Amino acid sequence: MKLIDNLLSLFYPRLCASCGDALQQNEQCICLNCMLHLPETQFHKEHFNPLRQLFDGRVTVKEVTALMSYKKTNKVQKILHHLKYCGQKEIGKVLGEYFGGQLITEERYRSIQYVLPIPLHPKKERLRGYNQSEWIAKGLSAGMGVPYLTDVLVRTQHTDTQTRKSRFARWQNVKEVFEVQNPDKVAYTHVLVCDDVLTTGATTEAAVQKLLEVEGVKVSVVTLAATTL
Ligand SMILES: [Zn+2]
Repeated sequence: MKLIDNLLSLFYPRLCASCGDALQQNEQCICLNCMLHLPETQFHKEHFNPLRQLFDGRVTVKEVTALMSYKKTNKVQKILHHLKYCGQKEIGKVLGEYFGGQLITEERYRSIQYVLPIPLHPKKERLRGYNQSEWIAKGLSAGMGVPYLTDVLVRTQHTDTQTRKSRFARWQNVKEVFEVQNPDKVAYTHVLVCDDVLTTGATTEAAVQKLLEVEGVKVSVVTLAATTL
């Protein structure tokens, strides 16, 4: 098998999702050099970090952080593009596991019991073949040593009649894109909601708001990248 792998990589070298150089055999998705130079925010080290302002006065999040700072010009955009549109779901797992390992060094993240990926619209997931957030959840779960659940935070199933609603009605619907199933599973626990990128925080806010309807639950949020920095 190894010989075949080696031969294959001669013709189809695996490339770094960040710089495009050929990967060494022991490197996964992103080369060591790029891993060493990721624009990490280190926000998990402070409770009162700049991302907190996104949610202040909107919804209560226990902790919030992002692994990297996203700027249009930097390589984070490339990495996320490969994760979402080039079928490289393993990037989510690799970076999720790397980040998870950092998070558990902080006391405030050690009480987390479950990781919950933000669900993708079913139509989008069918087209893409996977939900990138679920792969990030897999990685975080491995790095933190806690399970991830995909049957708690789910997308509302829209019927055809709903798609014919007025624009105003659809705008109101944005708030109702998520629902919670099996609330008993997460009642009185600390859950970690994860996604690929945090922009305005609107999607995350809607998801957190739904989750907070569960009795005694605490919700924290992490993403691979944040734009508002
Ligand atoms: Zn690289």
